[in-house]
Amino acid sequence: MDTPAVIKEEEIRPEDVFNEFMRLSAQDAESFFDKSQFVDVVCPGCGASEKADHFKKHSFQYNSCAKCGSVYVSPRPNLDELIRYYSVSKSQSFWSENVLKKTGEKRKQSIMLPNVSRIDEILEEKGHHPNRVVDIGSANGAFLTEWKKRHQEAELHGIEPGRESAQQCRNLGIEVYEASVEEVAQKKQVNGDLVTCFEVLEHVQDPELFAKSVYEVTAPGGMAILSTLGAEGFDIQVLWNESRSLMPPYHLNFLSCEGMKKLFSKSGFSKVEVFTPGRLDVEIVQNSIKRGASPDLSRFEKLLLSRGSETWKAFQKFLAENALSSHVWIVCSRD
Ligand SMILES: [Zn+2]
Repeated sequence: MDTPAVIKEEEIRPEDVFNEFMRLSAQDAESFFDKSQFVDVVCPGCGASEKADHFKKHSFQYNSCAKCGSVYVSPRPNLDELIRYYSVSKSQSFWSENVLKKTGEKRKQSIMLPNVSRIDEILEEKGHHPNRVVDIGSANGAFLTEWKKRHQEAELHGIEPGRESAQQCRNLGIEVYEASVEEVAQKKQVNGDLVTCFEVLEHVQDPELFAKSVYEVTAPGGMAILSTLGAEGFDIQVLWNESRSLMPPYHLNFLSCEGMKKLFSKSGFSKVEVFTPGRLDVEIVQNSIKRGASPDLSRFEKLLLSRGSETWKAFQKFLAENALSSHVWIVCSRD
């Protein structure tokens, strides 16, 4: 693997604007929805309904699956309400207007470019040489544009429901489907030798339908590579209800490794591999404690966090290598 670019939480979540985003999200979570219309769902990973734990966050309930350890919101808004939320809520417009604009270049350097390199390495290792690439949630087309720089023969397709973003993709010469992946899959509009999807799974209303749709838009013999947030990351496990990632209604699904394998195998993929190349878990825990979070740390965790940066770096590496980081990649192969 390439040496990853240095990444700092502050660079992708600058404290001042991120705090304002958190404040607006909490407000929206409390007041935007008619919660009597919420729907109950089972574990999006394994389908079980037994819960090992649950807690409320801004009046949404997060549950921890007793069978596979996935963490998920239930009851949750139905699809129409969630779409309405993403199009008109205050926190969502603040996110695109402020957080993304302010951190765009940093995100490109520290997240998107390493993503392209990582995908190249995975494909190289698998001996897979895709031509048609479909990016689900292609946003402003940054990933596909970078992909084209490195793979000039590639045929680019984006799936992007946002009108403004879809237009940006078109301006860059990307064939774009202005719809959700579920709609594109149902109409069988396109399939890719390589399907990519960054940071979408945690947001989707119906993960089972989403996974089936990802399978549908993956060509036979093709691969789908997704990144998402996972329940088994160090920061999530340690901070739990105090984790800033557990933010309703944005983040509804934090699957365990087992949950992800079950979900994507069930949707038809013949092989599903999960790994966690995260770099921020330890820093996120430390920053949260500095900000006043008071997670229930074990004696050992306190000792670990009292050590110097060499120990933290080595521990972060251990987490990444043992599927214990919350930044997760899923590599799915279709026969
Ligand atoms: Zn489960």
